[in-house]
Amino acid sequence: MRLMHINGRFTQGHATQEIAVHNPATEEVLDTVPRGTAADASAAVAAAMAAAPQWRATVANDRAELLHAVATKLRHHQEHLIRLLTLEQGKPWSENEEELVWSANTFDYYAELGRHERGSVLPPGTPTQFNFTLKEPYGVVACITPWNFPLLLLAWKLAPALAAGNTCVIKPSEMTPLSTLYMQEHCLDHLPAGVVNVVTGYGPEVAEPLVTHADVDMVAFTGSLATGQRIAALAAPQMKKLHLELGGKDAFVIADDADPQVAARALAYAALLNCGQVCTSAERVYLPRARAAQFTEALVEHVRSLRLGPGMESTTDLGPMMGEKYRAKFETHVEQARHAGAAILTGGRRPPGFTRGFFYEPTVIANADHSMLVMTAETFGPAIPLMEYSSFDDAIRLANDSPYGLGATLLSRDPDRIKRFFDEVRAGTIWINDPLTDNYAGPFGGMRMSGGSRELGQEGLEEFRTTKHVHWDFSAAAKPYWYPYGSA
Ligand code: NAD
Repeated sequence: MRLMHINGRFTQGHATQEIAVHNPATEEVLDTVPRGTAADASAAVAAAMAAAPQWRATVANDRAELLHAVATKLRHHQEHLIRLLTLEQGKPWSENEEELVWSANTFDYYAELGRHERGSVLPPGTPTQFNFTLKEPYGVVACITPWNFPLLLLAWKLAPALAAGNTCVIKPSEMTPLSTLYMQEHCLDHLPAGVVNVVTGYGPEVAEPLVTHADVDMVAFTGSLATGQRIAALAAPQMKKLHLELGGKDAFVIADDADPQVAARALAYAALLNCGQVCTSAERVYLPRARAAQFTEALVEHVRSLRLGPGMESTTDLGPMMGEKYRAKFETHVEQARHAGAAILTGGRRPPGFTRGFFYEPTVIANADHSMLVMTAETFGPAIPLMEYSSFDDAIRLANDSPYGLGATLLSRDPDRIKRFFDEVRAGTIWINDPLTDNYAGPFGGMRMSGGSRELGQEGLEEFRTTKHVHWDFSAAAKPYWYPYGSA
């Protein structure tokens, strides 16, 4: 069993039961972790509270060096971490390599951003005033993370939270806690005890007690809309600072000037990365009617060439889905589309010959429309549903026809269409010709039901700092606008 980590020590805490962590490619048990309790959440918060004054007082240059050291250690341990990510999460080794590199670089990025400034000087109202802002940490931050990018989405929270001077309690997904615990043991071990704590367990049993704990000042959460809504409701009575990164239903629009071969590869990557289990996966595709046959043919040919297998094999393009629960929900969406008149051009089944693991063939669905779940609800699997549009106006209207607003992609070289797309489509990230590529300096997050928070960039640091305005009158004289009014 791998233990939780509270106040600088590995511990079983108050857990009397274990949670098994499975390899989704083989369904075998990889290891177990303690099934944490509310008492463990409380102990971790107490440790983070106790460590907060010293961490807050640590000068930014020292914090920067400590964060650079996290990045260095992540790189030093990359082989083992990539292996753990591949085993517990399932996506191919090369995708986990990317995740590891991005995670380490995120710590380097925020190490520097965190020591760049901590507020600004403002123009005063009179010559005797001095006005400035101070950016301060919130205090204790609960970081609740999902299973699809266990380390990357943690790094996007932990690095800016620490750089800003907060202490943290991490609650990793119960399905992928092993890489987080390994990182805690080998890459965060130089931080003072209590600055980062990890509690393992189920959401309602350990994460909810963190959300409602009076000493947790901020909750940073990435996960589903339903869980985000639950967290928002639980946090409301205390008016807690929330940072919510929720689900998506990203539109992928192909303009009629795009190249079918390039479009096939771009779309397959955007829709099938991590077996379609990315919050910004291309989940609904709009093709120009006049060239739909060409784009579809190139796409189907490319998708049929992709290889399914365990992420540990170097020839694997697509690994398994995360679990039976997710595959079953995905199948419901595909079957509903099939019955509603969509055409399954390739895939649409569990691959024959795979007796273990949660595999599903990449599935191209033609004649999709907005009456189908594959075009409206988060499918979170290896589906590429295609719908034809008649004009670019129509494409933009369809792209905006969703309560989510995380990302959107356009393939085109036409500047008029590109400008209309980034002006008119309501999504937090707009990708033109290069879907799903992040940039450390580029804020990432959603609009509307995807949550309005941002990670990465300066905005990603600001989320973890609260602003204090200091108004200082250094003349210290009585002011003419004080009482009594009307005196001479
Ligand atoms: P999830 O909401 O089921 O779980 C996320 C985390 O919340 C886990 O640690 C889980 O244990 C915890 N949790 C569960 N119930 C809870 C509760 N009642 N209170 C507090 N915490 C609770 O999501 P998931 O299945 O792990 O991840 C997939 C979802 O995450 C998808 O909807 C995806 O779109 C979304 N996601 C969003 C982003 C983004 O940046 N916007 C990135 C990745 C994934």
